Amino acid sequence: MYIVMITPECAPVAKVGGLGDVVQGLSHELAIRGNAVEIILPKYDCMRYDLIFGLHKIYSDLRVPYHDQLFHCDVYLGFVDGLKCFFIEPHSFKNFFNRGIFYGHHDDPERFAFFCRAALEFMLRANKHPEIIHCHDWQTGLVPVLLFDMYKYLGMTHPRVCYTLHNLKHQGVVGEHTLRQVGLNPADYFTQDRLQDNFNHGAINFMKGGIVYSNFVTTVSPRYAWEIKNSDLGFGLQHTLHVHSIKFGGVLNGIDYNVWNPEIDPYISCRYSIDTIDDKYKNKEALRNRLWLRHDFIKPIVSVIGRLDHQKGVDLIRHGIFYSLANGCQFVLLGSSPEPATNNAFLGLKHYLNDNPDCHLEISYNEELAHLIYAGADMILIPSAFEPCGLTQMIAMKYGTVPIVRNTGGLADTVFDADCAPKPYHERNGYVFNDFDNEGLESALKRAIGLWYIYPKYFRELMINGMRYDYSWNHPAEHYLNIYNYIKE
Ligand code: ADP
Repeated sequence: MYIVMITPECAPVAKVGGLGDVVQGLSHELAIRGNAVEIILPKYDCMRYDLIFGLHKIYSDLRVPYHDQLFHCDVYLGFVDGLKCFFIEPHSFKNFFNRGIFYGHHDDPERFAFFCRAALEFMLRANKHPEIIHCHDWQTGLVPVLLFDMYKYLGMTHPRVCYTLHNLKHQGVVGEHTLRQVGLNPADYFTQDRLQDNFNHGAINFMKGGIVYSNFVTTVSPRYAWEIKNSDLGFGLQHTLHVHSIKFGGVLNGIDYNVWNPEIDPYISCRYSIDTIDDKYKNKEALRNRLWLRHDFIKPIVSVIGRLDHQKGVDLIRHGIFYSLANGCQFVLLGSSPEPATNNAFLGLKHYLNDNPDCHLEISYNEELAHLIYAGADMILIPSAFEPCGLTQMIAMKYGTVPIVRNTGGLADTVFDADCAPKPYHERNGYVFNDFDNEGLESALKRAIGLWYIYPKYFRELMINGMRYDYSWNHPAEHYLNIYNYIKE
């Protein structure tokens, strides 16, 4: 099958979070199964250019209509992890993708509306007629709208669209002028059954457009699919998802075991597997060395890796740090936030804990250090308010690091409580708590620390149970191929 991914992120070159990992991992798996996969991305100035191979210009006179002008674009081709990627570079006074960061500008909706139009214009001019266009998140919500109301009539009659929702918190809600800029008549779309936002009736909603116009809509875990349709985690799109429920489902993400695998990981100090699990402790020592932690063999290391965002439970993370330190653990955090206030709060905390030999907070984004933490820590804390899928718990399990998670979204689909999951013992792999408060978190963290100290043999069983799970792209890719085949017919 010929599949084109239109996406704002693709790991490792343009990654802000899990979306980037998903596009890379899924594309990779689809390609291994013999499908022709291509990826279209903006050409951001802040990408990891060192990880793009053979980057060269292949198209230099793409003219993309925008408002009452034509924006001139270059298109580059390069290979990321063996995947064929096209990067669109517009030249205009708007400087859409030369901002030093991926997101976070007041005109983000405009930037990505332009990207949607440019991606389709490129496909049309380059005569690309894939069977499937797979779009991701609000940034590409206008792709199916433009395809079925405009590009279909210009000759793109072939593609069907699969649209994946990675996080409903960000939907691309903006004034109707954005539609006019990409060549759509706002009057045609400003209705409740199309793009009008369900709450802000003066605005349009890109994600809603993606849901309404796509042939199939997925989200990244079955539990999150239920939550966004039936609770306020839908952030206003519940009704739209109900209306379109016939073409909507949850497919659990996978992780790329070529990248996340302690048996072959080039970034860790000592490689290991279930059979050589004792070598994990060499990584624990390496992590302590790297982060200047006290070498104290009778303490577990509790870790956090992630965006420091309200979604991730920053207040609970803070509480988890102090609780762990007070209960005989070492603590390592790797995280950063696009919000200066949150970043500064954690930098303040880092300063406060600076002299503590059992704690290290690394307020930055560091892919390589993340690998060493997954390998060296004993536990990972993920106290999210909500979590569409969450990759960190699945990565951690592959490295024998026991997850302690809140019972929400993909966390609930992948982590099964050591004491009370409705599963046999050998399928239990972590700790789960319900209430989004300090007591809730303590109820799980306390049990995990207790098991580590008092029943190390059982703790090791939990580690091994987690390592045995198959959270690769194998099953999810199968589901996506079924969906592609279903909408193709
Ligand atoms: P989200 O997409 O909501 O940010 P996920 O759990 O789905 O969360 O994916 C997070 C991904 O980003 C994981 O691969 C994780 O290792 C990585 N990551 C998050 N923060 C950092 C950081 N500060 N440094 C390195 N990697 C990070």
